[in-house]
Amino acid sequence: AAASEEVSFFLETGVYRLLADSGAVFMDPVRVLGESYTRHSLRPSFYYSRSFPSSDKAAAAGGGGGDERGSGSSGASRKRKRKKKKKKKGDPRELSERERAAERRHQEARPILLKAHESFLRATELLSALSDMIQDGQMAEVEEESPEVNFIELGSLLQASQCELSLCSQGTQSGSGICCGGMVSALFDNSVCNETDDDLEAVFLRNKYIIPKRSCFYMSILYLFTFNACFSLTNFMKRKSDLRQIRNLIPAHSDYGFNFIVVDPPWENASASQKSLYPTLPSRHFLYIPVRQFAHTQGALVALWVTNREKLRAFIEEELFPAWGVASSTAFYWLKVKADGSMLCDLDLFHHRPYECLLLGYVNGKEVDTGRDTTYRLPQNNHIIVTMPSAYSRKPPLGNYIPGPKPARCIELFARELISGWTSWGNEPLHFQDSRYFIDK
Ligand code: SAM
Repeated sequence: AAASEEVSFFLETGVYRLLADSGAVFMDPVRVLGESYTRHSLRPSFYYSRSFPSSDKAAAAGGGGGDERGSGSSGASRKRKRKKKKKKKGDPRELSERERAAERRHQEARPILLKAHESFLRATELLSALSDMIQDGQMAEVEEESPEVNFIELGSLLQASQCELSLCSQGTQSGSGICCGGMVSALFDNSVCNETDDDLEAVFLRNKYIIPKRSCFYMSILYLFTFNACFSLTNFMKRKSDLRQIRNLIPAHSDYGFNFIVVDPPWENASASQKSLYPTLPSRHFLYIPVRQFAHTQGALVALWVTNREKLRAFIEEELFPAWGVASSTAFYWLKVKADGSMLCDLDLFHHRPYECLLLGYVNGKEVDTGRDTTYRLPQNNHIIVTMPSAYSRKPPLGNYIPGPKPARCIELFARELISGWTSWGNEPLHFQDSRYFIDK
């Protein structure tokens, strides 16, 4: 009976409590993100397209999903690349000091990850629901779809500042779904908000985007360091951008600042540049993100996604968090599993772990600086979020960890999706909002 209660809680919230002592949970992001919408749900077959064998992907995602960026579809060729690298390295037992530090960190995390995974494998009711969870409840409509818009590419063009989108509520749509008389807004360098309690549709070119209730986004134009005359998409993705527009989001008064600040930076790493996913930035650029100025007068919880590189961890602890004013950090782990319950890859693979780390810490607001106490408490250390990962290195939502009184003000920097109650900033915050990734509720 207790297990069934857990399953009902999961069906309602998208969160299944695995371990009470460490707070480990299994999460279905499709359900959790679905809370943001009144008339739409996320299409599970798109979110979980990584869980389908490659030949089934196009069909599963209604022809619009695919998984060409970061799915593991070219597993064989990647394996070859990894093998080549190993040979160059010589004896794998000769670890550098950094590698030894990374191994120590891994050994610390290992027992808690194993404990959470064992508990997940014991949740048999949940396990038997996994394969249904990744399928769509309704048939995909076979429509002729226009190609997806690449906002990164579009935002780097001179014409970007002239792009406009129309925001349509249900009332401004004709019976055939065409938007007439919606509000027109600049697409780039502009704060676009849905202040209603209903989903809005934004129309740009021939594509529609679903804008959840009470959400805002700011899509940055991309300034590139160098101009390459022989432009190609792959070259373009490998070039660097800058962060000058982020300051436009600093609130005029800290009372309007944010209580929760989530940052998922485009760290330089082999995976992002090999797959040409998006432009990356040298770590030192992130020192200039004005985190303190974003923080609410009562302070803010800051959550930073990091990679498993030891050099990066040292930079964050010694330079980045001090520069942002972030104190006393805690680590969360995101453990990735497959639809059969097994981990995404061997837990002990040195260069490819089945988990990622999220560092959380507090930045004091003005009230704390003037001696008044913060109302927030740092979440439990070593919390584990288990999910079946989406493609495109999409992170699980963190809405369940919002601190302080509600409704909180939350911001995600370098976002690719919109969430109710949040401001999403980046060069492609509409990326996952394309209507082809949604079904009607
Ligand atoms: N959190 C996202 C998710 O879960 O889907 C992934 C974020 S990804 C690691 C980093 C994002 O930062 C990419 O969308 C990339 O295009 C964007 N980005 C890179 N350089 C940028 C810049 N200068 N300004 C704004 N966004 C940038």
